[in-house]
Amino acid sequence: MSRPDARYAYAYAVCAEPPAGLSRGRPEVIDWPGRAASSGPPSPRGPREPYVRRSSMNLPDKGRDTGELLAEIARMKEADLPVRGGKVTAYVYDTGRPEVHEAAARAYAEMLEVNTLDPTAFPSVVEMERQVVGAVADLLGGGTGIFTSGGTESIMLAVKAARDSRPVAGRPRMVVPVTAHPAFHKAAHYLGVAVDAAPVDPVTFRADAAATEAAITDDTVLVVVSAPSYPQGVVDPVGRIAGSAAARGVLCHVDACVGGWLLPWLREAGAEVPPFDLSVPGVTSLSCDLHKFGYSPKGASVVLFADPALRRAAYFASASWPGYTVINATVQSSKSAGPLGGAWATLQALGREGYLELGRATLAAAHRLREGVAAVPGLRLLGAPESSLVAFASDEIDVFTLSDEARRRGWFLQPQLSYAGIPANIHVTVTGVTLRGVEAMLQVIAESAAAARERGPVRLPEGLVELVAGLDLEALDDAAFGELAASVGVDLNGSGQPEMAVVNAVLDALPADRREAVLIRFLSVIYS
Ligand SMILES: *Cc1c(COP(=O)(O)O)cnc(C)c1O
Repeated sequence: MSRPDARYAYAYAVCAEPPAGLSRGRPEVIDWPGRAASSGPPSPRGPREPYVRRSSMNLPDKGRDTGELLAEIARMKEADLPVRGGKVTAYVYDTGRPEVHEAAARAYAEMLEVNTLDPTAFPSVVEMERQVVGAVADLLGGGTGIFTSGGTESIMLAVKAARDSRPVAGRPRMVVPVTAHPAFHKAAHYLGVAVDAAPVDPVTFRADAAATEAAITDDTVLVVVSAPSYPQGVVDPVGRIAGSAAARGVLCHVDACVGGWLLPWLREAGAEVPPFDLSVPGVTSLSCDLHKFGYSPKGASVVLFADPALRRAAYFASASWPGYTVINATVQSSKSAGPLGGAWATLQALGREGYLELGRATLAAAHRLREGVAAVPGLRLLGAPESSLVAFASDEIDVFTLSDEARRRGWFLQPQLSYAGIPANIHVTVTGVTLRGVEAMLQVIAESAAAARERGPVRLPEGLVELVAGLDLEALDDAAFGELAASVGVDLNGSGQPEMAVVNAVLDALPADRREAVLIRFLSVIYS
């Protein structure tokens, strides 16, 4: 194990014989100057357990009946955040109309066992996909497309298409504003494309058009803009950037994952939304997630291409084996048609009128939320979004503590770490269901802000950030990582309502590459 600093002492073994059911090993206790003073909140389950629990299924000898299984699933979901009702302002999208979600669930189940792998075997898939993709193309400027499992896969395919349709002399590169979704970094990582980051305007948070253009090189295969970018909900200057990409012969992707099925309805409801779709000259592809503001069950997105040849560059075929020939439109090969059925049914169950009504309610709720947040002492809004995504920061109140306080009150408000000069902030995705609870949400934000002010800023134990920054994570075993997490109040065995302010403050103090390394380790520990 590396020693980041001689001040840090490492002691061994708190417990030689772990209790049954817990992983074995002699965890290292990691010490740092402020360790004794660090006080996470008490765990509701009693004293913190330094070990990481390994749970396995215990495959039953005899099959069990459905009622029992569903009861067990209900038990497993007890600590989950609620997916309906509007108190969770990220991850889930609720129309507030149970009958729509019911229709989707039934259609999903109906298509569940159909495999989209071979469209000649299951022509229902082709008919349904043509309809769903066609609906997205009709709303967003035309083109030809692919139904995918989500925004990340849509983006992956757009990047692959760009890479393969425009060979360059060097390593292919793409220009990505700093506010663009990490899915572009993931696609670049998987596909061997280099990323050139472009700055955004520090006041509007929109991509800096001049800097984005200046980052284009002879090896650039794709320029990315967002409509809107997720963090502050603002639409990048699509027309200008797409135009200058086209002038250089470079493709331009509009990431409308969150906004594609939202902005047109907000515009129709009266919002000012600049042109952003495939009808804008120079835009060559666009991603639109139906499992966000399309309100479809998860696993539903569409990527559109202006040119059928570009769509072909996203496809993959292989006849290089002695088995069935593989033709894949997507990254996944065998996959359930359930999400496609769910998306088809949701579009049909809501219709134009349904989406427009949801758009009106969303717009009204976003206005009220922005107005209400601006009136809370110490909070300030970030940017002036065209969308219904709202971000706010504070110079006086610790926003991570505010988020924890809201969670105690039964609301999930998503914390965002500082990055590229943008301060740490809270993100709220306003959806169709938000309006009916917007006053309650504002009340909780105001109370949580007051409570966070009262508690004062997170006091990080002395030396903790330096310790984490310098840790050799590869040399640390899972138990030692679990112990470190427990010592700052994170119970990796636990469920329920974690207090995340200390963790967020530590992450916030680290550079991005260290944040990533710690998060990957965290993931591996919770799944161990
Ligand atoms: C959600 C989102 C994505 C990624 O979508 P997933 O469906 O989570 O894979 C990409 N871009 C933006 C702007 C998003 O909001």
